[in-house]
Amino acid sequence: MRIVYSGFRKVIPQLDPSLLIPVFDPSYQKFQKTLCIYLHTSPSKPAGEPFPMPPVTGRAMQVPAAGGAFQLVQKEFAEPASGQVRIRVQACGVCHSDSLTKLGQWPGIQFPRTPGHEIAGLVDAVAPDVPLFKPGQRVGLGWHGGHCNYCIPCRRGDFILCQNQPISGIHYDGGYADYVLAPANALAFIPDGLADADAAPLLCAGITTFNALRNSGARTGDTVAILGIGGLGHLAVQYAAKAGYRTVAVARGQDKAPLAQQLGAHIYIDSTTQDPAKELQKIGGANIILSTVTSAKALDWVIDGLAPAGKFILVGAPDAAVTINPFPLLLGRRTVAGWPSGTGMDSEDTLNFSALAGVKPMIETYPLEQAEEAYNRMMSGNARFRVVLTTGK
Ligand SMILES: [Zn+2]
Ligand SMILES: [Zn+2]
Repeated sequence: MRIVYSGFRKVIPQLDPSLLIPVFDPSYQKFQKTLCIYLHTSPSKPAGEPFPMPPVTGRAMQVPAAGGAFQLVQKEFAEPASGQVRIRVQACGVCHSDSLTKLGQWPGIQFPRTPGHEIAGLVDAVAPDVPLFKPGQRVGLGWHGGHCNYCIPCRRGDFILCQNQPISGIHYDGGYADYVLAPANALAFIPDGLADADAAPLLCAGITTFNALRNSGARTGDTVAILGIGGLGHLAVQYAAKAGYRTVAVARGQDKAPLAQQLGAHIYIDSTTQDPAKELQKIGGANIILSTVTSAKALDWVIDGLAPAGKFILVGAPDAAVTINPFPLLLGRRTVAGWPSGTGMDSEDTLNFSALAGVKPMIETYPLEQAEEAYNRMMSGNARFRVVLTTGK
């Protein structure tokens, strides 16, 4: 058994030091105490603690080779290895990034591979060295598929930037399946009051926008402009409004104005008939512009729309290089930044805030076996707004 350890060598002198792993994550402080009691009361198999369970069989919609169609297979899901939890999937979001798996675009990806990194489910089995999770608990798993604890960002506690980070559904099999095996340090608890199908997209589209906004430096009352009202944008508008920012939604066409308002936007700018930079400057400029759009051309104006010291943040991937006007950047101390997603704990904060504030994704659901249809629907860009596989029985 490998034991997560930091600082109680004196308490258990008989413990073989080679079994111990120093852990730098401050959140593991809680583990230490738990583990101390656990080892004192019963050094081998404490009563009432979760145990690994034998392998189970279940369905997976796997991609056999780059660009191949989804295959429905029955396969074995192993008992959890050290540090792992096995999750019984209840719902899994279908994200544009799943195309990296489907089309084999991630460098070095191995096939067959099951995609899916927006996973809501139930803990099914737990490795003996994982004290935090117990069978039956509701948990979520997002893009951040774990972290190593040893690279320099990890040693600084900046786990989002782990240099050895596995990505769920790319480096190991993801949530288009009945079960997923994942590192415990990637998981989030799902609060009551949030349905599995609603929680799933929040574990990628939700956390990315929520975490980018809460780390942006924006303060209550600041002007935050969200570009695009799609899969990410319709959540970003809700988070910005609920967080107390003056929320501006920028999208194409007047027909999106009622939806923007319904999502909580205070101001709507139609970029097909209005100049967004001019409109934003009329109200003092945006402190933050968060872009969820994919057209690089649609971003030409962004620096001119920022307030002094404003920040332009990319969370959507543009289809080409973005042109940046340097002078407002230099003279107004403006910045350009990107944001990836977040850790399991960031996911948990996202889910808790969503339940508290009533933020919900708009979804279309498909059963697991229709992953191909669900994926094509998502890729068409016509889904309103996130596609979710409902797997639980
Ligand atoms: Zn995603
Ligand atoms: Zn690391």
